[in-house]
Amino acid sequence: MSADFDLAIVGSGFAGTLLAMIARRLGLSVLIIERGRHPRFAIGESSTPLANLWLEILADRYDLPRLRPLSQWGTWQATHPHMGCGLKRGFSYFHHSPGKLWEACDDRSDQLLVAASPNDFVADTHWYRPDFDAFLVEEAIRLGVDYHDETTLTACDIEADGIQMAGTRHGISFQARAGFLVDASGPRGYLHQALGLSERHYEDFPRTRAQFSHFTGVGCWADDNRVFSDAPFPPDDAALHHTFEGGWMWVLRFNNGVTSAGFAEVANLDQPPIVEPAEAWRLFLERFPSIERQFAPARLIRPWARAEPLAFRTSRCVGPRWAQLPMAAGFVDPLFSTGFVLSLLGIDRLARALEAGCPESALTQYEADTLADLDATASLIGGAYRVLGKPDAFEALTMLYFASASFSETALRLGKPHLAPGFLLRSHPRLGPAIQSLLAEAGRQPTADWVARVSETVAPINIAGLCDPKKRHWYGVETADLLAGAAQLESTPEAIQAMLHKCGL
Ligand SMILES: Cc1cc2nc3c(=O)[nH]c(=O)nc-3n(C[C@H](O)[C@H](O)[C@H](O)COP(=O)(O)OP(=O)(O)OC[C@H]3O[C@@H](n4cnc5c(N)ncnc54)[C@H](O)[C@@H]3O)c2cc1C
Repeated sequence: MSADFDLAIVGSGFAGTLLAMIARRLGLSVLIIERGRHPRFAIGESSTPLANLWLEILADRYDLPRLRPLSQWGTWQATHPHMGCGLKRGFSYFHHSPGKLWEACDDRSDQLLVAASPNDFVADTHWYRPDFDAFLVEEAIRLGVDYHDETTLTACDIEADGIQMAGTRHGISFQARAGFLVDASGPRGYLHQALGLSERHYEDFPRTRAQFSHFTGVGCWADDNRVFSDAPFPPDDAALHHTFEGGWMWVLRFNNGVTSAGFAEVANLDQPPIVEPAEAWRLFLERFPSIERQFAPARLIRPWARAEPLAFRTSRCVGPRWAQLPMAAGFVDPLFSTGFVLSLLGIDRLARALEAGCPESALTQYEADTLADLDATASLIGGAYRVLGKPDAFEALTMLYFASASFSETALRLGKPHLAPGFLLRSHPRLGPAIQSLLAEAGRQPTADWVARVSETVAPINIAGLCDPKKRHWYGVETADLLAGAAQLESTPEAIQAMLHKCGL
C-alpha cells in the first residue's frame, strides 16, 4: 500500500470503526490500521440507555441504518440474530461480606435493582464484541473504508501538511499519508507510546486493578435465590454486580452461552500482584462463598486478562493533525458502564470537528470536553469505591448517577439537551458543582446526613422515582414517575407521552 487518505484511524474497535464509517459519510477517504484480526476478544460489553441513544442519534444523523437496530435488544434480535448479544434490563447489585453466604435480607438492604427499561424489546444489551466489532468492520469496508489488519506501524511523522506513516503487513513494508490521524487504539495505545505522551492521574482516585475473562456454564444468580419473583426484572438479565468493601465484580450473560465476568478492586500497585490470575480467582471465590457457588459449574474459555493499573488518563489528547478517541485518552473503571457513552460522545464531537475541517478551536474544545468527562467519571467512581461495602451510602451514590443519566437521556429525547449540559450534568451551573461536592464527600461524612443531601440534590432531576425508601431497593420503570417529572423537563405530560410513543412504549 502506498496512498494518500484524508483520515487514518489506528485501531478497529467499535469506536474507531464507527468514526471511520461516519467519516466516509462525510465524504472523506479513510484508512484503518489494525494490529490484530477480527473476530477477536475485546473487553467493554455492557451498554446503557444513554449509550444506545447516542448510537441511535449517530446512526440517524450519518445515515447508517444497518447500525441503528443494534441500539436495543428487540430490533437487534430481529435484524442481527446471528450476533452474540446479552439482554440488559438494568443494573443489579448484591452486597457481600467476606466469608459469608449471601442471603436475601427481608428488608432487601443487601441488594439494589435499578431498571433501565420497562420491557425486553426496548432493553439495552451487552455487546459480544467478537461479533459486534467484526460486523462494524464489514460495514466500514462496505462503505469504502480501506482496512488493513495484522499491520504494525513502525513510524508516524507528523508534518505541517500531513501525517506520514510507515509499517509492515505480513512482512511487506508500506507507506501511507493522511491529512489527519485518529488514535482509537485504547488506553496507553499507539500515539501514547509513539509520541511519548505523559499520564496525569485522576485526583482523589484509588489505585485499582481488574482481572477478567469469558466463561461458559455460569449459574444463574436468581435461580439460587427464589426471592425475585416480583422483582422489576430478572436480576441475571442485567449488568449483575457483586459488591464488597474495596471492590466489585461484574457478570454479563450473552445469548450464546458465554458469560463475561471479572472483578476490580483497590490494590497496592507498588508491588506486583502476588499471585497468578488463576490463583487470584481461586482466592477471590474463597472469600465470597455465594459467588463461588454461582461459578461452581462454570468453565473458563479463554485466558485471564489483567488491567493494572486499571485507570488511565492522558495529559493531552489532541495535537496538530491528530486526536485520540476517549478510550485512548483515558479510562476509569467499568462500574456504571460509562465507557461506551464516553466513546460515543467523543465520536459525536470529533465527527463535528472533522466536518468543520478540524480547526484548532474545535480540537481544543474536544480535548477539554473529553478530559472533563473522564474527570467527572473518576469523581463518581472514586466516590463509589469509598462507599463499596456500605450498602446505604452506595445506593445513594448510585442515585446521583441514575438520576443524572435518566434526566440527560430524557432531555435529549425531548430535544432539550441544554437542560443536561455535560456528561453527568458536569456543566450544569447549579447541579454540576452540587453533585461534585457530594461525590467528594462520599464516604467521608456521616452516612445518614449525606444520603439525605443526595436525595435533596437530585430532586430537580429525579424523574425516575429514585431515592424512595418505599421502593425498598427495587426501582422499576414507571411511566407515572416520568409524567410527574414533566415540569422538571420543561415539558408537558402530553409531550412526554408522545416521546414514549416514538420510542415504541
Ligand atoms: C475491564 C474493562 C471493562 C469495561 N466494561 C465496559 C462496559 O461494561 N461498558 C462500557 O460502556 N464500557 C466498558 N469498558 C470500556 C470499553 O472497553 C471501551 O469504551 C470500548 O472498548 C472502547 O472502544 P474502542 O474502539 O475505543 O477501543 P478498543 O475496543 O480497546 O479497541 C482498540 C483496537 O485498537 C487495536 N490496537 C491497539 N493498539 C494498536 C496499534 N498499535 N496499532 C493498531 N491497532 C491497535 C486493538 O487491537 C483493538 O482492536 C470497559 C473497559 C475495561 C478496561
